Amino acid sequence: MIDLHTHTDRSDGSTAPEDLVRQAATEGLRALGIADHDTLAGYEAAVPIAAACGLELICAVELSTRPNEHREPGKRERSVHVLGYWLQEPPSMEFRDWLETQQASRRRRNADLMMKLQQLGVCIRIEEAEVYGRNQVGRPHIARVLCDKGYVSSVQQAFDVYLADDAQAAVERDEPTLEEGIRLIQESGGMASLAHPVRLPQRGSELVRLVQRLAEAGLQGIEVHHSEHSPTDCAEYAEIARRFDLIPTGGSDFHGENKPGIRLGWGKDGNTCLPYSFLEQMRELCTVKRH
Ligand code: AMP
Ligand code: FE
Ligand code: FE
Ligand code: ZN
Repeated sequence: MIDLHTHTDRSDGSTAPEDLVRQAATEGLRALGIADHDTLAGYEAAVPIAAACGLELICAVELSTRPNEHREPGKRERSVHVLGYWLQEPPSMEFRDWLETQQASRRRRNADLMMKLQQLGVCIRIEEAEVYGRNQVGRPHIARVLCDKGYVSSVQQAFDVYLADDAQAAVERDEPTLEEGIRLIQESGGMASLAHPVRLPQRGSELVRLVQRLAEAGLQGIEVHHSEHSPTDCAEYAEIARRFDLIPTGGSDFHGENKPGIRLGWGKDGNTCLPYSFLEQMRELCTVKRH
């Protein structure tokens, strides 16, 4: 079995990279993809222990992008996630440097967010969120601090009241466009896959049109299997993959305790169990696409 979409505590997962590898070995996984948000730090920390455990570690990342080049004034759009997989060669230095710029943009966003919260009478310090997001503070970590300090009663309430893209303290971050994200992954030697399409606002023919646009921009894969996908969703995305000659990808999107109900390798009630041959097929299709 394999799991190609997991998060460590270097982004918004709760599990340390070393522990994630051990857990993967205990689950009997043969390959593990670490796809932290905008960072390779979790993957890199996991390399030595994976080698010691005999686990095949796949280098991956999940980029946040904005779907449209031009924003409609006053309207906020949800970020679209794009997965990058480096199956044949490691990511280029240029790409690693670019990821650093994303970390810097997150830090600026967090500082602005703290100011907005303060204006709303919410007094927390970024250091308090750094306890949870050791390498990179994300909104889920800030949400936990809001809970701890009694400003809200749940992480979801923290998003609904303060942190969601359309909530009071929302701050925009300079994310790349979807097309730029795809191009950056591709140019650094990776394959780009559209993450959990079920979360996109587009459905049916609108989704097909979006995927066509992205395939023309260099998208190489689509996440067919994901813990939030129903069997019907999977069938729909597999059909879209066939239609646009995209490589099916998949994984649980494990975040440890930060997303309860998702089991590493298994997803929700076993809906993301994938055999090792699934990864072999991804590799084969990648090679075919390159020639
Ligand atoms: P960040 O990368 O710091 O902007 O945080 C993004 C993460 O916050 C996403 O990956 C989700 O896990 C979480 N998130 C974003 N919007 C919401 C929302 N409306 N409700 C719950 N969680 C959310
Ligand atoms: Fe996440
Ligand atoms: Fe995601
Ligand atoms: Zn994810």
